[in-house]
Amino acid sequence: MEYAVGIDIGGTKTAIGIVSVEGQVVTKQVLPTDLTISPAMMIDRICDTVQQMMKDSGLAPESFSGIGIGAPGPLDTSKGMIACPPNLPEWVDIPVVEMFQAKFDMPIRMENDATAGALAEKWKGAAQANENFIYLTISTGIGAGIYVDGKLATGARGNAGDVGHMIIDPSYGTCVCGQKGCFEYIASGTGIARKGSELMGEDLTTKQIFQLYEDKHPVIEPFIHDIYTYIGMGCVSLINLFDPEKIVIGGGVSQVGESLFQGVQQYVQQFALNTAGRKTEIVPASLNQDAGLIGAAALILSTPRGVTKS
Ligand SMILES: [Zn+2]
Repeated sequence: MEYAVGIDIGGTKTAIGIVSVEGQVVTKQVLPTDLTISPAMMIDRICDTVQQMMKDSGLAPESFSGIGIGAPGPLDTSKGMIACPPNLPEWVDIPVVEMFQAKFDMPIRMENDATAGALAEKWKGAAQANENFIYLTISTGIGAGIYVDGKLATGARGNAGDVGHMIIDPSYGTCVCGQKGCFEYIASGTGIARKGSELMGEDLTTKQIFQLYEDKHPVIEPFIHDIYTYIGMGCVSLINLFDPEKIVIGGGVSQVGESLFQGVQQYVQQFALNTAGRKTEIVPASLNQDAGLIGAAALILSTPRGVTKS
């Protein structure tokens, strides 16, 4: 059978997995992304782990078709570089693909993590039957992978889908990017914790805020309904732009479940511009745990149209 290594580089941890052509994660390891060492040292550590895992798997070296990498943006996939991600502050213009290529004689491909997530949902998840869909991930930040007319839309440098910095409500406050009222500033897990803590007058986590919501707290319940409306606004803009059949929502915040999907669906039913758009399905991602890995491996195994070739 054919296999690929999938690597999901994140701000706090890096997941590495061996994935089969059927989309099964055969083995995986999670390393902390150590921000106290140089990016080059961290990449060495990842490469060593990959080599060890390939060896320990007992699989023949020729059964590996390549290594796929999902990384946080902004990046420049045309040069195989991580450019300047806010959650990896030292990783400025790091030629990740070249560094892997020096150690592995096989194809190496890299895309931003939300694009890889979209590919995973297309390959083995909630959007297998769709030729037009958006994968929206709402966790620490907000990002999207765009699958349009049967192919991934990656943009010139792999940064298409950075919807977290689409403006939703300028009155809300200033985002890290300098603009006011970005989607991510308002509706990401970080945004929900910040505003919810402010409303409650104490430091609370996103999880604690959602617990208060479930307990029907009189301040938090309407606040979260407003958040669902904001997510609905984001979705309506995406529907009006791309005319997808479906929006697949993943990431930590989506784990809150049914109430979010109902809230967003209601907004979309009312406000998407065209009547067909109002029927766009809003569904949960089906590969949440391991989506990053599977998507990264899919860059190699599913021969997607639209992905930068190495
Ligand atoms: Zn922003």
